[in-house]
Amino acid sequence: MTAKQDFVAQRERMVVEQIEGRGVKDTAVLQAMRSVPRELFVPEAYKQHAYDDSPLPIPAQQTISQPYVVALMISALKLKPKARVLEIGTGSGYAAALLSRIVEEVHTVERIPELVDYARHRLQLLNYTNVTVHLADGTRGLPQYAPYDGIVVAAGGPQVPTALQAQLRVGGRLVIPVGEIERRQQLVCVMRLTEKDYERRELGAVAFVPLIGDEGW
Ligand code: SAH
Repeated sequence: MTAKQDFVAQRERMVVEQIEGRGVKDTAVLQAMRSVPRELFVPEAYKQHAYDDSPLPIPAQQTISQPYVVALMISALKLKPKARVLEIGTGSGYAAALLSRIVEEVHTVERIPELVDYARHRLQLLNYTNVTVHLADGTRGLPQYAPYDGIVVAAGGPQVPTALQAQLRVGGRLVIPVGEIERRQQLVCVMRLTEKDYERRELGAVAFVPLIGDEGW
C-alpha cells in the first residue's frame, strides 16, 4: 500500500470507530471528516499518529484537538450549508478546514502569528478558499463579519465572552469550553433564542489549552 492509500484507510477507520461509533450522526460532519487529510495538519514528526484518538502537539506549545471532540463541537452547531461560521483558535487549521467543507463561509481567528502562517499555508495547499485566517484576540470575536450562524471556540476560558454571544445571529449557536481551572472545562453550548435571551446547555467534560485574551485568561 502507498503512504497515501494508507492514510485514506486510516481516515476511514477513524470516522467509523471514533466518530460514528461514538454517536455522531451529522452526515455533513462525517463527510467532511472523510475528505480532509488530517495528516497535512499535524507536524511532520507526528504524521504517523495523525489518525490517533487523541490531541497532538503543534507549534507554539498548542495542540490540534482530538478528532472526536472536533466532530462533537461542530455537530452541536447544527449548521446549514449557507451558514457563516466563526472559529476562535485556528491552531493547525484542521477544524477550520472541516468547517469549510460544511458551510459557505468560515472566518477563523488565531493570536499566535506562527500558527496563522502554519494554517494559511495548509488551507492554501488544499485550495480551501472559503476560509479566512485572521490574526487577532478572538475573545473579542470578529465584529466586521457578524452575525454568525455558529461560533466555535477551540480554547478554554473562565467564562463565555460577552462579545461572542453578541455576535451570534438569533437562532445561532456558540460552543465553547468553560471552566475555572485551566485545562479542565465543561463544553458549553449557548443558543441565542431572541435578541436578548440565550439558553445554555452542557455537553460534557473536556481539556483544552487556555483561551488567552481580554475576555479569557
Ligand atoms: N482548532 C485547532 C485547535 C487549536 S488549539 C485545530 O484544529 O488545530 C487552540 C488555539 O487557540 C491555539 O492555537 C491558541 O493559540 C489559540 N488561542 C488561544 N487564545 C486565543 C485568543 N484569545 N484568540 C485567538 N486564538 C486563541
